[in-house]
Amino acid sequence: MKTNKTVVLRPKKHEPEEGRIAENMREILVELGEDPSREGLVRTPLRAEKALKFLTSGYDTDIAGIVNGALFTESSDGMVIVKDIEFFSLCEHHLLPFYGKVHVAYLPNGKVIGLSKIPRIVDAFARRLQLQERMTSQIAGSLQEILGARGVGVIAEAQHFCMMMRGVEKQHSGTVTSAMLGDFRTRKETRDEFLSLARNRDRF
Ligand SMILES: [Zn+2]
Repeated sequence: MKTNKTVVLRPKKHEPEEGRIAENMREILVELGEDPSREGLVRTPLRAEKALKFLTSGYDTDIAGIVNGALFTESSDGMVIVKDIEFFSLCEHHLLPFYGKVHVAYLPNGKVIGLSKIPRIVDAFARRLQLQERMTSQIAGSLQEILGARGVGVIAEAQHFCMMMRGVEKQHSGTVTSAMLGDFRTRKETRDEFLSLARNRDRF
């Protein structure tokens, strides 16, 4: 729809919602040879600030708050596995995304956690500036601490934009990391059971 309304290309100086990240983002646009006042970029610093804050919101996630009320006493002791939990993170070396799936398993020791809480714990560690290796072990360590489980296993499979779009420019290589605690570390049968269930591509 055409209107004769003038398009205002500059945001009001110091738009109240804009913070320091947006201010600096405008400088970055200039350094990149861009004109931050052109139509498509006017609100980009603000959008980028909001996106970055969301993508790093895991620093402020209250994990105890997530878990609160979702721990249940349970005598069954079979392995619990939550597979194919999607995650999106930012590599701390290039500030580029890496994303993929996490598989989480634990052996209860009298307590189980509401299943929907596990993806939220994954997000709490994914939404930070991360290394895949550290994210994997943080998820495992956090669950072990919450559950007092006989063991926790976490596998992360990811693709890294810093490898796909730059550097070696390999689009199809994936990175797999794992963290095995308790029985998952010491008992081969436990680890093998987890690995075969995690590898099984069929729904079960
Ligand atoms: Zn990177």
